[in-house]
Amino acid sequence: MITAPALSTLVTKLNSAGYRVFAPAISEGLTTFTQLVTGDKAVFSNLNTRLSLKGIFFPATEPLLRYKLGKSSVEVEDIANFAPKTVVIGARPCDASALPALDALFSWDYNDKFYLERRKNTTVVTMACSAFDDACFCTSVGGAPDNKAGSDVLLIKSGASFIAEPLTEKGKAVIDAAPDLFAPAGDQKGEVAGPRVYFDRSKIKPWLESNFDSPLWAEFAAKCLSCGCCTFVCPNCHCFDIVDEGGLKGGKRVKNWDGCQFPLFTLHTSGHNPRPTKAARWRQRVAHKFSYYVDKFNCLSCVGCGRCIRHCPVNMDIRNQLAKITG
Ligand code: SF4
Ligand code: SF4
Repeated sequence: MITAPALSTLVTKLNSAGYRVFAPAISEGLTTFTQLVTGDKAVFSNLNTRLSLKGIFFPATEPLLRYKLGKSSVEVEDIANFAPKTVVIGARPCDASALPALDALFSWDYNDKFYLERRKNTTVVTMACSAFDDACFCTSVGGAPDNKAGSDVLLIKSGASFIAEPLTEKGKAVIDAAPDLFAPAGDQKGEVAGPRVYFDRSKIKPWLESNFDSPLWAEFAAKCLSCGCCTFVCPNCHCFDIVDEGGLKGGKRVKNWDGCQFPLFTLHTSGHNPRPTKAARWRQRVAHKFSYYVDKFNCLSCVGCGRCIRHCPVNMDIRNQLAKITG
């Protein structure tokens, strides 16, 4: 067990032990994962942060190298910045459970050392949910409010304290860094609550495989603005672009998040676009998450965090669409 005030002391102790510590905190009015130093205030009572956990491992923008252009030469400087030992405290189980799916992707046909080094150096302390909102649907996609996937330590609320369950060696090391803050849990009961199941997920893939040309895609996508917000807030979406940003004398090569809902995402140099309509782009998003990802990695690419429902400016609701196609 660890008491709620002792979690703040844990941040101080982990900082002293050389860890960077991230936790949900309020910044410019939003709850978001923030690097904490001693005295900063974490907010564990809110539900999911605006942006997911993925940005800690796969930043929205990241310089890969710097280059200088000479008359007949190019000088390249490696500026990759691999994170030191890091602990994230207070991630929700849905966000953590997206990490194994991202691990499979980033070590598939190429080992992405930028992502993989951060994963190796980072310990994820999740906090089971004792409340949820009306966008959450983790239980419909195989998750749970106390899901352990992707987590190194699971904290479960019990009164004014948390039961702490170490799940990996990295998790044990974090608890060992501050043993005086933890006490045996005895027979304390945890408080866990999750949303109802909205659809039968076993029916999604078969429907997708036989409805590529369904008129429902146009109906579903009709009000989409192609703003890409859903892809950026999603803990599972992982597309990126690599661009050179610079001038005549040199610049930086940068890896930036990209998103499949943008019309330019698949535009070829020839001018041809294989996904020229909103319907085709939306179908790609849903089919990638619920069919192609299953074929490739044997897991879904959606953890039901509900962010794309909460933050879409025109109220697209992937959960209602999945409920509709599964009958
Ligand atoms: S957030 Fe909504 S409007 Fe924006 S691209 Fe996604 S579905 Fe379309
Ligand atoms: S598709 Fe939506 S609900 Fe599913 S993980 Fe992504 S943001 Fe969360």
